[in-house]
Amino acid sequence: MLPGNTYVRECPHCSGKFTQPTMASGNTFGAKFWPDGKIDAPMMPDYPAYVSCPYCKGTFWVEDTKVVKSIGYDEEREIPDLTLDSNQNPIPYKNPTRKIYLQGLDDLNISKENEVYLRSKLMQLFNDVNRDQKEQRPAIAAQIENWNRLLKILDPKDTQEKLLRVEIYREMGNFEEAKKVLAGELDEEYMDTMDILDKLIEARDSRVMCINPHDD
Ligand SMILES: [Zn+2]
Repeated sequence: MLPGNTYVRECPHCSGKFTQPTMASGNTFGAKFWPDGKIDAPMMPDYPAYVSCPYCKGTFWVEDTKVVKSIGYDEEREIPDLTLDSNQNPIPYKNPTRKIYLQGLDDLNISKENEVYLRSKLMQLFNDVNRDQKEQRPAIAAQIENWNRLLKILDPKDTQEKLLRVEIYREMGNFEEAKKVLAGELDEEYMDTMDILDKLIEARDSRVMCINPHDD
C-alpha cells in the first residue's frame, strides 16, 4: 500500500484538531471477503466515512469537516505546525462503534445514501460476533430492526444494494425470499458474488463465514 496525505481536520463540535490518514493506492492482495460486504485487506484499509472526535465524542462525516492542513507522506514527521496549539499534537479520529453509527442515524435529515452506508456498516458490526465462528448466535433485536429498515430503503434496481438484500434474507434464514431477490439478470462484474450467494442459499446456510472465491 502507498499511503497518501494525512489531513489535519477540525472537529465541528469542539474545534479539536484530529488526523485522517489516506491511501494513494492499494490492492486486495491477501484480502479476506465475507458475504455481508466486509473486506479485510492488509494492502487496502477501509477508512471509515463516519467517525467520532477523539476529544469531545461528537460524531460527524469526515468529508464534512474543515481541512486545517495536509501533510505529505514523506514530510509527515518533519514540519512543526504553527497553526496548531503547540501543546496539542493532533491524534487520529476515533473509529466507529455501534454507538457512533447509531448517533449518525439519529440525524433526521440524513440522506438515503448515508443511511444505507451507516446501516450496512452497522450490519457488519453486528455480524462480527458470528464472523467465522462455528457456533452462530441468533440475531439480537437491534440487528433485526436494522435488517428490516435496510430492506425497506435499499434500491432494488442498484446491483450492490440488491445483493445486500439477498444477503440480509440469507442471514435471516429466509432462503425463499433470498432466492427470489437473487433471480434475474445481474451485471457481469457481480457474477462471483452471485454464484457464492446462490450456493449458500441452496445449502440453506445462513452463517457469516469468509468466502474467498479464488483461494483454496
Ligand atoms: Zn470534538
